[in-house]
Amino acid sequence: MKSILRGAAIVLAMMPIAATAQDKAKPEDTEQWSPAVPVVTPGKIDTALPPSDAIVLFDGTSLDHWQNVADGAPAGWTVAGGIVTVNKKAGNIETRQSFGSYQLHLEYRIPANITGSGQARGNSGLFLASTGPGDKGYELQILDSYRNNTYVNGQAGAIYKQYPPLANPVRKPGEWQAIDVVWNKPIFAPDGSVKTPAHVTAFLNGVLIQDHVALHGETLYIGKPSYTAYDRAPIKLQAHGDASAPISFRNIWVREIPDTEG
Ligand code: MG
Repeated sequence: MKSILRGAAIVLAMMPIAATAQDKAKPEDTEQWSPAVPVVTPGKIDTALPPSDAIVLFDGTSLDHWQNVADGAPAGWTVAGGIVTVNKKAGNIETRQSFGSYQLHLEYRIPANITGSGQARGNSGLFLASTGPGDKGYELQILDSYRNNTYVNGQAGAIYKQYPPLANPVRKPGEWQAIDVVWNKPIFAPDGSVKTPAHVTAFLNGVLIQDHVALHGETLYIGKPSYTAYDRAPIKLQAHGDASAPISFRNIWVREIPDTEG
């Protein structure tokens, strides 16, 4: 009995320490800085026009398929000249339609006059499933990673703070770049537990950057990722708050595919 009490006292004494350590979790805790990701010069690829069965999410003329995440109003980004440019005041935008698993194509351009460094240089993001407001969901990082050093699991093509890209095939600011993704959504049991984690395969400028990686959960800026059960979710694009010039997108389309279990 005495030893049980002593044990309980030790456990109680340790609890505040554990809680304090949790409170002090920092963004840096989940940054990975090495090994460096090899730089690859991509081959030349032409724009990939949508196949016949694609759902065209942005054809250069309107954002009818999109809405502001914050208020559900029509997406407040700027459409001109066949491209859409982030409006940081409008915040993140997401598709009106929700999706399970899919293949997606989009093209983005970091402005030629981009400024800033690290995470504050052309930061945006493709949220493969927008499971809530703000930045909630699963983020494939978009960033100017042309001679711009940052943590490797935060550079262009990373599954943010989970998987660095296998290669860095980015083009110079001012040039268009293509992302192609296969998103296998996570499968949840009725009790909300994970039956099959989400998997991501992705190409940047035609170069494999994510090879069917199993995600640990939703993206988190601070702390360890974890899952929240969902069925279908919108696709979201990030209006990051960094001070650099806003980036642009064009030619966004998606093809739904069957969910895969196991
Ligand atoms: Mg981002």
